[in-house]
Amino acid sequence: MAKNEAPKTAITPTRNEDYPEWYQQVVRAADLAESSPVRGCMVIKPWGYAIWENIQRELDSMFKATGHKNAYFPLFIPKSFLEKEAEHVEGFAKECAVVTHHRLVPGPGGGLIPDPQARLEEPLIVRPTSETIIGAAFASWVQSYRDLPLLINQWANVVRWELRTRLFLRTAEFLWQEGHTAHASAAEAREETLRMLGVYATFARDFMAMPVLEGPKTASERFPGAVDTYAIEAMMQDRKALQAGTSHFLGQNFAKASGIKFQTKEETEEYAWTTSWGVSTRLVGGLIMTHSDDDGLVLPPRLAPAHVVILPVYRGDDTRAKIDEYIDGLAKELRAQRFGERRVEVEIDRRDIRGGEKQWEWVKKGVPLRIEIGPRDVDAGVAMVMRRDRSPKDKSSIARGELVGRITEILGDIQATLYARALAVRDSNTHVINSRADFDAFFASTGGKEAQGGFALAHWSGDPEIETAVKDAHKVTIRCIPTGGFEGAPWADALTGEGQCIFTGKPSPRRVVFAKSY
Ligand code: AMP
Repeated sequence: MAKNEAPKTAITPTRNEDYPEWYQQVVRAADLAESSPVRGCMVIKPWGYAIWENIQRELDSMFKATGHKNAYFPLFIPKSFLEKEAEHVEGFAKECAVVTHHRLVPGPGGGLIPDPQARLEEPLIVRPTSETIIGAAFASWVQSYRDLPLLINQWANVVRWELRTRLFLRTAEFLWQEGHTAHASAAEAREETLRMLGVYATFARDFMAMPVLEGPKTASERFPGAVDTYAIEAMMQDRKALQAGTSHFLGQNFAKASGIKFQTKEETEEYAWTTSWGVSTRLVGGLIMTHSDDDGLVLPPRLAPAHVVILPVYRGDDTRAKIDEYIDGLAKELRAQRFGERRVEVEIDRRDIRGGEKQWEWVKKGVPLRIEIGPRDVDAGVAMVMRRDRSPKDKSSIARGELVGRITEILGDIQATLYARALAVRDSNTHVINSRADFDAFFASTGGKEAQGGFALAHWSGDPEIETAVKDAHKVTIRCIPTGGFEGAPWADALTGEGQCIFTGKPSPRRVVFAKSY
C-alpha cells in the first residue's frame, strides 16, 4: 500500500509508531483524565472516574464476600509511626510528602509563608501506605485470639512523591484500596495473602479481561518491611509488564513495630501475623493498554460505564418524533436486561452534531456497542449495530426484539473476545529462553530502537547480583516467579521443574519471568 493510501486511524500516532504517545492520546480522546497544575497529580474526569467506580464496586463486593469490612483511617501519619519499622521507613522515606506547619502568615516579601510559630512538634507524613497508622489501631483492637482474624479494607488516596509520572500508571497521588489483616498464626496469614492474590487474579481475568501471571516477587522487589510480596503481572500491548496488584505477607514485623499482641488460648502472649494488599487507579491504565486500539479506548463490557450508546440519525424534523419514541422504547427494553450484576447501561446521544463526528466520539470512548437508528430502521423494526471489538465499518442490522433478547449474550461475547485477544498477545510474546546469548538478543536494542522483548522465561539461581546486572544491562527485572495464571499456555510446561541458571550455570528451582516494565 502506498503511503498516502494508509488507512486513517482515530488516534495519532498509532501503537506501532509511538506507544507511549498513543497511550496519552487515547486517554485524552476518551476524556478519561488530564494533568493538573499540581506536579504529578491528575484530574480524573467523569468517564475515567466511572470506570474506577466500576472497578471499586466489583472489588468491594469480592472483598466483602471473603469476609472483609471497610473502615477509614487518618490521612496523616506521625513521623515516629513510620520510623517504627526500619525497612519500611527506609523504603518510603525517599518519596514522602511531609507536613511541618499548621498555619500561614503574611511573609516579609508579600504572599504567605508557613508561620514559624505554628511549626508542628512532630511532622506528619501524608500516608504513602497505612500499615503503621492502621497497626496502631489494631494494637488497641486486638487483645485476645478471639479478636482474630481482623479483616479490614480501606478505600483511600495515598501520596508517593514519584518523579516520573504518567496518567493512571504512576501518579504522585493515587486512589487505591489497601487491605490490612491480622491473624493468630503464620499459616493463616499466608493463606490470606494468597487468597487475596487470587481475588485480584480473578478480578483481572473476569472483569478486566486481562490475563495475569501470579507469583512471589524476588527479595529485591519486595514491599519494604514485608517477608514475602506476591504480585499479579500483566503484559501490555507493547510487551512490557505491568504490576497490576500486590499482596504482602508481613510476618510479625509490623505487629512488633505497632505492638499488635494477643492472648493465645493457652494464655500466653504473642504478636499477631499481618498481611496487606492493594490495587490502585493504575488498573485503569492497565485496562487502557491491554485492549485499546488505533481508534481509541476499548472497554470490556464488565467495566464499561455504558454498555450501549444509541445514536439517532434524524432525517429532517418530520421523522424526529417517531425516532425518539422508538429509541426511548428500545432503551427501556435494553435497560430491563442484566449483564452480570448490573443492568444493561444505555446512553442516548441526541446532541445536534454531525453523525460521523458523534460516531467517532463514542468509538474513541470505547463503548462496547453503538446502535444507530434512522427512519428506515424504525419502519423496519430493526437497529444498526456496531461492535467496538470489530472494525468500525462492520455494521449489522438486527431485529429489535432479537437485539434485546441477545444483548447479554452479545456483551458476553465481546468480553470473551477481548480476553482471548489479550491472552493471545501475552502467550505469543512469552518465550522460553535457555541461554545467556538468547536472553541478550531477546532484550537487545537494535537500530536505535529499544526492543521490548516480551516475557522471557528463564532459569535463575536466585543470585541478587545477577538480578542487578541484568537490570543495569537491559532495564529488565524479574516480574515474579510464576506459580499460577499460565495454565493452558503453550509454554506452561516450561514453568515447572528445575534447571540451570542461564547466567551462572548454578541449579535453579524453577523459571522466573524477566521483562521490561512500567
Ligand atoms: P504497594 O503498596 O507498593 O504494594 O502498591 C500497591 C499497588 O499500588 C500496586 O498494585 C502498585 O502497582 C500500585 N501503585 C504503586 N505505586 C503507584 C503509583 N505511583 N501510581 C499508581 N499506582 C501505584
